[in-house]
Amino acid sequence: AGLDVAEMPDNKVVCGCMGVTKGTLIEAIHQKGVNTLAQLKECTRASTGCGSCTEHCQQLLKAVVPEFQEESEKVLCKCIPFAEDKLRDIVRSQRLRSVQEVLDIYGNGHGCEICKPALSYMMDMLWCGDHDEDRSARFINDRVHANIQKDGTFSVVPRMRGGVTSAKELRRIADVAEKYNVPMVKVTGSQRIDLLGVQKSDLPRIWADLGMPSGQAYTKGVRMVKTCVGTDFCRFGVQDSTRAGIELERRLEHLYTPHKVKMGAVGCPRNCAEATVKDIGLIGQDGTWQVVVGGAAGKKVRKADLLITVESMEEALQAATLFFQYYRENANYLERTYDFVERVTIEKVRRDTVYAALGVQQGLRERLRKSKRLARDAWLEGDEPRHPTQFVQIEPLEKVYR
Ligand code: SF4
Repeated sequence: AGLDVAEMPDNKVVCGCMGVTKGTLIEAIHQKGVNTLAQLKECTRASTGCGSCTEHCQQLLKAVVPEFQEESEKVLCKCIPFAEDKLRDIVRSQRLRSVQEVLDIYGNGHGCEICKPALSYMMDMLWCGDHDEDRSARFINDRVHANIQKDGTFSVVPRMRGGVTSAKELRRIADVAEKYNVPMVKVTGSQRIDLLGVQKSDLPRIWADLGMPSGQAYTKGVRMVKTCVGTDFCRFGVQDSTRAGIELERRLEHLYTPHKVKMGAVGCPRNCAEATVKDIGLIGQDGTWQVVVGGAAGKKVRKADLLITVESMEEALQAATLFFQYYRENANYLERTYDFVERVTIEKVRRDTVYAALGVQQGLRERLRKSKRLARDAWLEGDEPRHPTQFVQIEPLEKVYR
């Protein structure tokens, strides 16, 4: 989408997450002998954030490196040269329960910022949370359960299931904003409230004062279910989208996923909460629900594919959760549902989920249930930090020695 990489000026930023320009990428290719995507990632860190620039990086490699060949089998990275589906099989069959064990036996023993978060997710998903978690293998956001901002402060987004809140919650949010001098309080596009500019050391007390669960806005996990008011208040509503959205969020919250998962539920095809461009959408119709998957409305815009049409809300929730667990188990790390569905094809997704044999469906449900049983609200860690310095504000050196 957008400008073709060949037309871009050298100072154009290709990877927005890591701030890498086209010129920096070309320099790495010419001066450091880079000729694969994995090497380009390692040298420049491009394509290691949200992954949406991967296509541009590949285009650039194709244009600049004569011997570039698309990797027929995409390996995780140089530290552990296996495709992710192979690694999942290895970890499962060898019953490896820590990132370090996998790196010691099958990798170079130390790993990097590409493979460690991916392996960390793999452990969590495969062992349903029953494993040795290595916090150092995770991104900073996952270590402090908040989203780091450009000035080193953090943002705090409490969970508001289905975008529904109450006067009591709003009062608590207002009290927190005043007590901790929060510089900005912002309503997000996900029907939630973001407290921006928070000091790291204030995080545990803010979570305790809010008394609300984490909205997981900082991690590759379940974000939210955006809902419209549906039959409760809307004249056009034919299904109870608010209840469906709240219930879907409750069933999946606190879980980790290969990339963020945004969902939506609407009470009629007018689609006021944009369910057709969400990773998972529930669309109420007269007498039925459509469950759609793989939608996007970010850098890439994609209309979600129809997974199935069912009669009841419970059937819609069941279909959505089957897809959710299937995505968790089969997508590559940092692969959004829209790329996953395109790669695997919606026909196969349907065959492996909603039209799969009963035993296959039961397996997906059972593993999801186990993960959910062990998943806990990350903000509860504010009471028992994993590490004495987990929430200590680290000042930049120039400030310390000023
Ligand atoms: S999507 Fe339909 S039910 Fe929901 S608010 Fe819009 S018009 Fe009303």
